[in-house]
Amino acid sequence: MPGISIFGSYPKLRWQAFFLAVGLSVCSPPITSDASEPESRDTLQIYFVDVEGGQATLFVTPAGQSLLIDTGWPGHDGRDADRIAAVAGKAGISKIDFVLLTHFHQDHAGGITQLAARIPVGAVIDHGENREHTDATTEQIWKDYQRFLAKDNVKRIIAKPGDTLPIRGIQAKVVSSDGALIQKPLRGAGATNPACKSSGPYPADKTENLRSLGTIITFGKLRILDLGDLTSDKEMELMCPLNRLGHVDVYIVSHHGWSQSGSPALVHGIAPRVAIMDNGETKGGSPPSWDIIKKSPGLQDIWQLHFSKEGGIHHNVADPFIANLAGPDAGNYLKVTARKDGSFDVFNSRTETSKHYAAAD
Ligand SMILES: [Zn+2]
Repeated sequence: MPGISIFGSYPKLRWQAFFLAVGLSVCSPPITSDASEPESRDTLQIYFVDVEGGQATLFVTPAGQSLLIDTGWPGHDGRDADRIAAVAGKAGISKIDFVLLTHFHQDHAGGITQLAARIPVGAVIDHGENREHTDATTEQIWKDYQRFLAKDNVKRIIAKPGDTLPIRGIQAKVVSSDGALIQKPLRGAGATNPACKSSGPYPADKTENLRSLGTIITFGKLRILDLGDLTSDKEMELMCPLNRLGHVDVYIVSHHGWSQSGSPALVHGIAPRVAIMDNGETKGGSPPSWDIIKKSPGLQDIWQLHFSKEGGIHHNVADPFIANLAGPDAGNYLKVTARKDGSFDVFNSRTETSKHYAAAD
């Protein structure tokens, strides 16, 4: 008679036993559902492309419009552009309507030329000119970008805090740009932020990071925050003493989870339900930043694009929540499928499983 595995019959027990055995803590019970990616014309799809510690996040709205936040790195034979084009194909789009560059560092803006050679780009959105002239690489990325804009005669939008981007199907509101911030709290926000007491002070950043073009994206009841690499000194201005952003459901972890960003004032102030970190194996995912997210009130899960070497055994989530484990890179992505009622699923392309998050009360 074949042996019966109690764990095979009770997957949750198996997981709990596993975590007890290895002494890890997890944010909540792991992934429960099926092998398919939830799809619907009524949903907002968000792909978190693995660009090895840079950023490339593709939003495809139910109206069929697309917004790509950042383009990954240059070079590498167009690796990042290939990965972005691949998920665009999965999403069924043949053009990216808007490419938003949060700032001009190479891990965000470096892939624009290679990307445009693979898929048409409708318009670009940025914070205005590069201000970090002392960094030769950044200056080169800026020059390449200028050449691309001139050659293809691409429409360019320079966004300011308070602007709403012209994307159909979602509301994308700019909260930071070129070092400036929204001055008034967003609707429903503006409470005193108790996490300010345990934050800072932080040194004034002098790079392109502090100029990151940050947006809050609203889809029905769901709110998603992306601040690029905005640094903690700016987070304090934005979140203290009054919380100008309010709560969000999904936090696209600032700066790949590096410790120059992601203060308690920001993270605990926005109190996300889920945090998604676009770290690489050797970039981002710093233990102090990871701990701040982990302790955030109301947090259900952290998802990571990569296992973080720096995080080691104590500062990484359980494997099912990681798109790329240690070892040869496979370019696996994470995907959020969101509904207007505020519910959403997170899909891991490595495990081909999803986890469902119910609408908030
Ligand atoms: Zn970056």
